[in-house]
Amino acid sequence: MSTPKRFPASLRSAATPQRELLMPQRHLRQATADAARLARPSGTGLDSGAVRERMVSRLRAEGRFDERVLAAMAAVPRHEFVDSALAAQAYEDTALPIGHGQTISKPSVVGHMLGLLFAGAGARQRGSLGRVLEIGTGCGYQAAVIALLARQVTSIERLQGLHDKAKANLQRIALPRSHPVPRLVWGDGRIGHSASGPFDSIVAAAGGEDIPRAWMDQLAPGGRLVAPTAAGGRGQVLVVLDHVVEAGVSRWVRSEHEAVLFVPLKSGVV
Ligand code: SAH
Repeated sequence: MSTPKRFPASLRSAATPQRELLMPQRHLRQATADAARLARPSGTGLDSGAVRERMVSRLRAEGRFDERVLAAMAAVPRHEFVDSALAAQAYEDTALPIGHGQTISKPSVVGHMLGLLFAGAGARQRGSLGRVLEIGTGCGYQAAVIALLARQVTSIERLQGLHDKAKANLQRIALPRSHPVPRLVWGDGRIGHSASGPFDSIVAAAGGEDIPRAWMDQLAPGGRLVAPTAAGGRGQVLVVLDHVVEAGVSRWVRSEHEAVLFVPLKSGVV
């Protein structure tokens, strides 16, 4: 006798047992508890590139990440984006609290999403992510990684406290001069940023019910968007949207990837 299916299905049932649920922003309390458990004294050589190289080697061993993305991740000091008490865990593949009830995404999730952007038609041809829009700046870590792979970066955050924090973090790490300085915007990312667009790549770090129309409108021909989005009974999945133009006619080709659990895409600013 089969058990009747509940509708809507719970996220847990959608995500298991086929594959591990990708949880870039684990529940804050869980992340904080892990952080407290793992906390070690600082001053353990986090400034050396070797510790970042080790993180990247572990990701490389999985065989599913773009080398250009791994190289950028090897160059960005992730520990500079988290609280000094948590710095010792900055190179673990884990989400960490960044204040204001939010968390920094896991390195493997950042790597995966940026790899998906690189696999888009325009980025493949160009060898760069081009002009990028990020929704959900958080602490600014992913914006820094993107800056090493793009021609222009605009990143929007709705929480002013985090917007300010990201600004300070990015100033402190001083990206190489040959790369763009991310333009940080305090605002509601659901409306995109038409003044800086159109964008060759759009990446969201927060998940909504659907892809906002503004993002589609601001996605350049040949461009690709990657965003966690609700997918009915399957819970939240990574959605990839390609802006394809054929015979002068635009269409947006959508594909759905693995189940994920990002923080919600909220409206308005705080
Ligand atoms: N990329 C970030 C991850 C931040 S977590 C990093 O590297 O740290 C996702 C962020 O999305 C949160 O800071 C949250 O405040 C923000 N967010 C949620 N809804 C938003 C919206 N409508 N516009 C802009 N930011 C939003």
